[in-house]
Amino acid sequence: MNRLQNLAVLGATGSIGRSTLDVAARHPQRFRIFALSANERIDELGELCLRHQPRYAVVAQAVQADVLRQRLQPGVTEILIGQQGLERIAAHAQTDCVMAAIVGAAGLVPTLAAARAGKKLLLANKEALVMAGPIFMEAVRAHHAILLPIDSEHNAVFQCLPDSFSGNLGGHGVRRVLLTASGGPFRETALSQLQSVTPDEACAHPNWVMGRKISVDSATMMNKALEIIEAHWLFGATPEQIEVVIHPQSVVHSMVEYADGSVIAQLGNPDMRTPIAHALAYPERIEAGVDSLDLFRVGRLDFAAPDFSRFPALRLGYRALREGGSSPATLNAANEVAVAGFLERRLPFLAITAVIEAVMNALPPRAIASLDDVLEADAAARRCAQLQTEAVAAEQ
Ligand code: NAD
Ligand code: MG
Repeated sequence: MNRLQNLAVLGATGSIGRSTLDVAARHPQRFRIFALSANERIDELGELCLRHQPRYAVVAQAVQADVLRQRLQPGVTEILIGQQGLERIAAHAQTDCVMAAIVGAAGLVPTLAAARAGKKLLLANKEALVMAGPIFMEAVRAHHAILLPIDSEHNAVFQCLPDSFSGNLGGHGVRRVLLTASGGPFRETALSQLQSVTPDEACAHPNWVMGRKISVDSATMMNKALEIIEAHWLFGATPEQIEVVIHPQSVVHSMVEYADGSVIAQLGNPDMRTPIAHALAYPERIEAGVDSLDLFRVGRLDFAAPDFSRFPALRLGYRALREGGSSPATLNAANEVAVAGFLERRLPFLAITAVIEAVMNALPPRAIASLDDVLEADAAARRCAQLQTEAVAAEQ
């Protein structure tokens, strides 16, 4: 008999948040929606609250709280505000499981709060781990949190590793981790056209429906760069043990190669409800609403080496991982600023990685010993990236 788990969804109105609620709602005997959060689209949060009746809802600002309050039945859902509210639901004594699905650095503090409270932590917010890897993993260890990857590649790797895996790849006979990547919408676009692609073109991913920031990250392949760093922290993989494989069908979600030459892969339709359901029910398996994989329709699976000149972000990802210290936080913050600049049409597509590289060159890596060090590196990189963005925008 499974005990009912109280679920807190950070970023409930996003792509991952909504898929999480979809899976959880299929299993009301297992999951109770205990808390929800959103930063915008308060109407939608209101609807989610009416449907799921959570004990708490968190919004960013007091004005949003007033709007939300008018939409809710009195006495059911308490409304909390801002970072403090997020930290409170993430660490609440009655929260069993936290889905960390806020996009970007904004998710770091509440996600870390869940780790420090020893929760079962479903990590979609890869930026939090990229920024604060050593601090985050230490919090997981010290407080016995159960960290389960939601990113489809890392969830696949997790499924391909032995149950007894304890963080030492070599000790478990693993030779390499093979992260697959679709190559995004511009895998075959002529290089001469990349300068003028629009935000809508960049967000039209061939296989996955996602939020706009991660969609742009997929188009530059910065998403894979962040995932290389994520794989390092989750599985203890060195840069040499992580290989990126272009796989346009997005059916093989990633692979693990063993010393004896065996390569174990996890396959499925590109639907985030699969890794979400896997992590929600772990170590059991539950229905996720995902269709059976039709291999006859898929027909073929293609694989190719990534083109590092087309996708310089990949090189920057390996560089940040090798440099260590504040470098991954710098990479992540510069990327967030540059992507925002691109989405606001102030930066051309190819300038995204150019800005990030300029910021990394300007800010040499520093040691990271605390959350404050991470937040300082993040702030410095944002300031520098803002200046770089303005300089490029002025030239346009
Ligand atoms: P999204 O943009 O669709 O949703 C983001 C959510 O975070 C929304 O609920 C939004 O209200 C909230 N949010 C945004 N800024 C916030 C802030 N400053 N403070 C508090 N809340 C804020 O994003 P998504 O596609 O669902 O991605 C969420 C996370 O999951 C990202 O870190 C992304 O990299 C990761 N991820 C997503 C996918 C996917 O298929 N969408 C796959 C793998 C990993
Ligand atoms: Mg991914």
